[in-house]
Parts: sequence; structure tokens; C-alpha cells
Amino acid sequence: MPFDPTLRFVDKMVDRVNSSVSFKRVTKLEDVLPEKVDRTSLNIRIPFCASRCTYCALPGQVYDEKMAGLFLAGLNEELKLYASYLGKSKVERVYISGGTPSLLHKEMEALLSIVSDNFDLQGDVAMEASPADLSDEVLDDIKAAGVNQLSIGVQTFDENILSNYLGRKMRKADIISALERVMGRDFDYVNIDLMFSLPQQTKQMIIDDIELASTIGVEGISTFPLMLLEYTPMTKKMEHDGVVIEEGSGPYEDEKERYLAIVQSMREHHYKLRTLWSFSTAPERYEGPYEHSNFIGIGPKAWGVVNNRITLNSPSVVYYIQMLEEGFLPLYAYSELRDYPLARVARRFYYGKIHEDELATLVKEDGSLRKYIVLMKASGLLKKEGEFLVLTDKALAYGNHATKRIAMATLTSMNEMFQQATKESKGPMVVSQEPMLGLETE
Ligand code: SF4
Repeated sequence: MPFDPTLRFVDKMVDRVNSSVSFKRVTKLEDVLPEKVDRTSLNIRIPFCASRCTYCALPGQVYDEKMAGLFLAGLNEELKLYASYLGKSKVERVYISGGTPSLLHKEMEALLSIVSDNFDLQGDVAMEASPADLSDEVLDDIKAAGVNQLSIGVQTFDENILSNYLGRKMRKADIISALERVMGRDFDYVNIDLMFSLPQQTKQMIIDDIELASTIGVEGISTFPLMLLEYTPMTKKMEHDGVVIEEGSGPYEDEKERYLAIVQSMREHHYKLRTLWSFSTAPERYEGPYEHSNFIGIGPKAWGVVNNRITLNSPSVVYYIQMLEEGFLPLYAYSELRDYPLARVARRFYYGKIHEDELATLVKEDGSLRKYIVLMKASGLLKKEGEFLVLTDKALAYGNHATKRIAMATLTSMNEMFQQATKESKGPMVVSQEPMLGLETE
């Protein structure tokens, strides 16, 4: 591959971001929480799945009814503790992430009542779901509970890749029927996840997947490249089987070609870029799981972003419940998020554009930003569209590469912390926080 100075620069910036993610144990509540928040969002993470997918980057566990009951009791305590600490703040959005939340469809009404009993819930309630779960009964339950947006983990419509590489045995016809059932209900917004750069997946296959999703009529499509993290069963299997994904001139060039084919196909099907990894026919109606700048992670293994810090909850369900029973929030670790002007511009570029006024304010704070913007324009990475500076396709490809590297490094760091926490949880409970975490509960 010819030397690419822009790619080298992007990699240097990514290294800078990645070296800034460093998790520490939570020792005081004020390390991670402000005394009061007026508005926030909740990321309620359901830790159970029907089975484990081979590519999954985070620890999880197979659904167990008894554990699910304990988990809901813990959730109740956790939300009560947050409410007693933060006051009955306004919750703008609840995102129920997984795991596979659709497994708990019968409990969804109780779960959302716990939220509205403790917070002033005003916004959308979005939930992740597996296409395998979406029967009429499940859809009735989650609609009745108040879920109005769904994000469905399809990953690919190809049965062979699903079963041979992703550990999911689903027929294409059943996935399509499930999506059609969902579209027949009046959810405000339906998103599906699709993966690319999968083994044996050609560029045409992902374009066909987008076409099919568009025909079914989903409002949003999120696309993620496969992230081969060394500790996942899929990576180990591929190494063992000698499967190579990349062909031609190299990983970056191959993935760039696939990603730009996706961007083009989305345009042809009237999906606008919402973030580098998600496209939508109605971008203003949806926020992705972690796009709110301030969201609290609820549940074992949940993560949040509060006060410019990523927080991680204890990953063990048992330990999580034990901590709550003793009156402690189950916060295990946190990492600061750097918040200097260049980082803010980079974050804006995840959404593909920045408003001129915002950029002007940031340039006032850090004059050196001007030279980066001039360079980006001269290199054909930025163009003006109305009052915005917008990433060109050339820049989007670098953005995909940067986002993937940052996501992989963050997932690896989170996994390391979760592993450490899991080891500790096998011994007697050791809580490093000061006793101030023992909040008064009614
Ligand atoms: S990818 Fe999703 S459904 Fe699969 S194991 Fe991970 S959390 Fe569960």
C-alpha cells in the first residue's frame, strides 16, 4: 500500500485518544457523580442472552430465571439509590441495552414503572431486541410497557455467516417475518444493526442487506465493522481455521472500500448519515444508545458517561446485588474523558459535521485548531454545506478507521476491568469506596 500521510496522522491522533482511556477503581462517589443533575438519560443494561455470540466483546451470561428475578430486585434498589442521591431528575431518554432485553419482555412493564417511580421520565424509551424473540406476544408486552423505539440486532441476513461465524442459528425468512411483524406495529422508530467485513461476506452481500432493510422499511440502519478482539471465541476460531477476511491491498484499503460502498448504498436508499456508523431516514427522531452526553449506566456490566467520565458497574450479578443490599452503588471503575477543543471537534466529526459557530468558539479557545481545519480543507477532507463544515467521503473512510480503533481499544480496556472485577467478586466482598456510598434509603 502506498504511504498515506493522512492515515498516519489519523493513527497518531487515535493513539493519543486511546492512551487517555485508563480505568481506575471508584473510591469516592464524587469521583464520578455530580451532586445533582437536572437532566440525564439512563442506559439500563440487561446482562442476559439466550446464548453467547462468538464475536461478542463483553462478558455476559446465559438467561436464568432465578438470576433474572434477583437482577430486577437489584435494579429497583439501584434506581432508588440514584434517585435519593440525585433527586427526582428529568430523564430524557431510557435506552435498554443488552445482553438481550427482549428476553425480559414480561418484566418490562415492572422495570419501566420502577424508572418512572424514581425519575421524571419524559422522553423516548428505546430497547434492543433479538429478531429471534419478536413474536406477537413479545411485541404486545413491550408496547404495553411503554417501549416506543426498537433496535434489532440482525447483523446479516446471510444464514451461512450467521451460523458458521456469529454463533446464531436463524433463517433469513424468519428474520424478515420478525421485522415485518415489528413494522406492522406503530413503533416510533425501528433501527437494525448490520455488520460488515465479516468472513465470506462480499461487498455485494452487505449492499443487498441494506436494500432488503430498506424494502422492509426500517427507519434506521447501524453498520459496524467486525472487531476482531483477541479474546473473543470468533477470533480464536478464525485463527484456528486460518480464515482471512482481507484481500487485495490490505486491511485499511479493503475496509475503506466496503465502508464507502455502504455510504453510497445508504444514500441511494435515502438513509442520511446520522453518525459515522448509523444512517437514518428520520435522523431527528432517534438518538443512538450512547450519544447523550450525560447518561447513567444501570445494571451489572452497565456503563455510563457522567461528568466527562466513563463509568463501569460491577459485572457480576451476585456481587452487584450484594453491593446494593449493603447500600452501595455498584460503580466499580471509571476513566476520565479528555475534554480539550481538538477532542470536541473530533467528537463532532463522529456525527459527520460541525457548525461554523461552534468551530469558531473552539478556535478561540485553541488557535492551533485553525491549522488542522485549513489542512483538512486543502486535503479534500472537509467541504462547506450551508452553515456546516461536512466530512467528505474521503474523510468518512478515515473516520470509520479511527472509530473502529477507538472502539476496539475502549472495549479491550473495559473487558480488562470486567475480568479483574469478576476475579475479585469470587472472594469476599471488598468495596473500596468510602462509607459515604452507603446512602440513606427509605
Ligand atoms: S452480541 Fe448481543 S446477543 Fe450476542 S452475546 Fe453479545 S450481548 Fe448477547
